[in-house]
Amino acid sequence: MFPNSLTFAAHDSLSVYLHLPFCSRKCGYCDFFSVVPASDRLVSTTVRRTVDDLRDALERLQTAGRLREIRSLYVGGGTPSSLPREVLDAFLESVGRVLPAPPGEFTIEANPESIDEPFLDALDRHRVGRLSLGIQSFCDLTLRYLGRRATARINHAALEMIRARYRGLLNVDLIVAGRTRGEAARSIDILTTRYRPAHVSLYLLTVEPGTPLSVSIGSGAASPVDEDFQSELWREGIDALERAGYRWYEVSSFAVIGRGGVRRCAHNMGYWRMAPYLGIGPGAVSTLAGEQGPLRIEASRAIPSPSYRVESITPEEFYLEHIMMNLRTDEGVDRARLRSVFGVDPVDAAPKAIAAAEARGDLEVNETAVRTAGRGRFFLDSILTSIAAEIGFLVPARCDWPGGARYGHGRSAPKRR
Ligand code: SF4
Repeated sequence: MFPNSLTFAAHDSLSVYLHLPFCSRKCGYCDFFSVVPASDRLVSTTVRRTVDDLRDALERLQTAGRLREIRSLYVGGGTPSSLPREVLDAFLESVGRVLPAPPGEFTIEANPESIDEPFLDALDRHRVGRLSLGIQSFCDLTLRYLGRRATARINHAALEMIRARYRGLLNVDLIVAGRTRGEAARSIDILTTRYRPAHVSLYLLTVEPGTPLSVSIGSGAASPVDEDFQSELWREGIDALERAGYRWYEVSSFAVIGRGGVRRCAHNMGYWRMAPYLGIGPGAVSTLAGEQGPLRIEASRAIPSPSYRVESITPEEFYLEHIMMNLRTDEGVDRARLRSVFGVDPVDAAPKAIAAAEARGDLEVNETAVRTAGRGRFFLDSILTSIAAEIGFLVPARCDWPGGARYGHGRSAPKRR
């Protein structure tokens, strides 16, 4: 149950993430919280409780006043498309009734093997404007290495069906696993020439301890990842995306330019701009403004009814978190926003680290922003390490967060489509 003792500050607008942690099979590399459900009953109970917790949380936020806009809604997992169709339909229906306003952007996650006509019809009925699809690769060798359920043939069949029946925007995830020469660039060429999704996320495979893939590598049953080779393929993949007309806008995110500009994912932009968000469902996390300052609220992984742990975020850690998240995007850090929320300009907080990165051509500093430049986005970790070391235990003058609905160089929240 969402904690009923919390008192929130007023939020004008909010992003909402709903976590449905069920998959039909675990992928070899998966380190996310997801389970193969023991029964349909467990799935339907979890889904019902998620709606109940969402209702409770929104009631509490509305008591604080002003909540008028749901900037974005993201239904993720797990694999939401693997849910029984009647359960998913009832879930989307109930969520629509609970929200105070239709979301500005509505995204759902899916995997190719569970794409079918009833699923796509449900997206249409519930006005889901963005579909995020885990393709990962068109190379069967790579898909097998990753322990994916879909083959290249299944990936193509899902994309053909989406092209024929879905009217919203498509986000596709790809993983660079470092298996075969040219692998990422080839998958990108196939994807962009045949299907041209609005948005592509290109990730590097990381082998997390305890995953089936890590165990197989440890026992010698699978070959290890050659990180240098993998980075080479990743760079080739980025070049292929940019050649195909996709604009880089975040470490791993690329989008086409449409009417109204780059087709960024508004929900993820909210995370990177450090806008408040509510996360509901087992394993979900929220960052919200409490009466006394920012709060992180973590749902436990208990299925079907998670408990929620609440922690205050100190202004020091929150300041650094803003810089780390903002620098991921092409917008960079909004200097005026940091001054207005914390009373400290980032250029004054870490002058040496920022000047050194600027001198190397890795950062660009102007009156409004600090952002990566040139190849700086490839060295973000080391730039952030030096900024964090210089900031140290800086105590910001204040923390007036969320401080109105402005995020990112004076732009208002993303418009509803
Ligand atoms: S589909 Fe996603 S969440 Fe499910 S097992 Fe695979 S990687 Fe994990």
